[in-house]
Amino acid sequence: MEATLPSCTAASCDDDRLTAETRPPDAPPCFHLLAKPSGSTCNIDCKYCFFLSKEALYPNEKHRMSEGTLDTYIRQLLESHRTPEIIVAWQGGEPTLMKVEFFRRAVELVEKYRRPGQVVKHTFQTNGILLDDEWCEFFKQHNFLVGLSVDGPRELHDTFRVDRRAQGTFDLVMRGWSQLRKHGVEFNILCTVNAANQHHGRSVYRFFRDELGAKWMQFIPIIERATEQTIQVANRGWSEQPGSKRVLYTQTGNLVTERSVGAQQYGVFLMDIFEEWVRHDVGRVFVQLFDVTLEALFGRHLLCIHAPTCGLGPALEYNGDLYSCDHFVEPGYRLGNIHETHMLKLMASPEQRKFGLNKLESLTGQCRQCEVRALCNGGCPKDRFALSRDGEEGQNYLCPGLELFFKRSRPAMETMAKLFRSGRPPSDIMAITAIEDKRRGAYAPCPCGSGRKFRFCHGSDTPPSAFDATTTGERRAS
Ligand code: SF4
Ligand code: SF4
Repeated sequence: MEATLPSCTAASCDDDRLTAETRPPDAPPCFHLLAKPSGSTCNIDCKYCFFLSKEALYPNEKHRMSEGTLDTYIRQLLESHRTPEIIVAWQGGEPTLMKVEFFRRAVELVEKYRRPGQVVKHTFQTNGILLDDEWCEFFKQHNFLVGLSVDGPRELHDTFRVDRRAQGTFDLVMRGWSQLRKHGVEFNILCTVNAANQHHGRSVYRFFRDELGAKWMQFIPIIERATEQTIQVANRGWSEQPGSKRVLYTQTGNLVTERSVGAQQYGVFLMDIFEEWVRHDVGRVFVQLFDVTLEALFGRHLLCIHAPTCGLGPALEYNGDLYSCDHFVEPGYRLGNIHETHMLKLMASPEQRKFGLNKLESLTGQCRQCEVRALCNGGCPKDRFALSRDGEEGQNYLCPGLELFFKRSRPAMETMAKLFRSGRPPSDIMAITAIEDKRRGAYAPCPCGSGRKFRFCHGSDTPPSAFDATTTGERRAS
């Protein structure tokens, strides 16, 4: 049942069709929309997941996308794009709560509205728990790329990714993973970097590579903001709790929960993985941030977080409400409803353009003068709640880690870029790194910056806790 637009219940409203005349002249040619067909509803209860609190935005409603909203969404998305390739991205909450039939209908609608020459790819982010033969046969048949959320081996994964009885979900997720493998579904791993796994970058990476056979991975920092007033409740978690008033998560406050990743430790975690990758896996394992950084050396920005501006990643709620970004599903960033206004008009609105430009215009002086600015661009605005070195507000909480990663990885990244420009594969960096390692010697400090000898750090096959002794204390941003 649609709450905001009960009058628009037909399969599709025809009065909002875009024509060459009605297309906003300054509308973006493409964007990457994340659709939440079951809103923020989920079948598990990850402790760090503030999206669970977003259910409070639509109280007393069944959070399920209707056939009418699905039709309007798919049609408007395909009408909006001027690029030949379009991604239909499903997310949550947990989208498998919608059942396979809903997505069969989505695929039919794509075929109905697809213009000649348009190529549509489907992506689907899931915790994997409900995946079975039916789901995986469907994914395989329609070439879905499935993102599976895993935080590492069992003991790391189960720290925060728990069900409603606070039991770890590792075994259930692995059952879903084995279904994906059995049916040959293309998958990537989405791993959050949090207080539990932040010291175990290489062990986590190796688990994905060696145990799960993952070829694509992304590592997303957990940063849960809170204020002096909300920090205690926030530390208890974001789901409904008996006897406690639920807090709607918004991007406010300069405190972070105890589950959040340490600012500098995020960079240490990434470098721990990078030093492994650059020696063994270039060209065969793809880590999103590494690809993005290499592309940035060619002036191309594949990820909004490290692009100069943003605003091309809106989120669609189950009822047709469109928000500026998946991380800003909160009242102040609701652009409108696609049943009332075509999504392209919302994307071209002054509010959304301002949202995207703000990323550039709100850079601190420290960022503007930073030597890795072209790679980092200040990071995501949602994380800009710390003080800069000069005491200016609006510095990225993760800055110490971002700076560490971009500076330390840069020599190898630049070598890969040079290799590519001269017609050689970037994977030749592995042979170059091996020569450098030999010349430096086994007992020299490891280039990762851990302070350990190379032989006992990235020169070793079995150093699972190389970073156990390093940092974490940063819990306050300013
Ligand atoms: S706010 Fe952050 S996540 Fe959202 S579009 Fe901008 S950079 Fe991307
Ligand atoms: S590393 Fe820090 S100072 Fe440099 S651009 Fe990124 S956030 Fe700004």
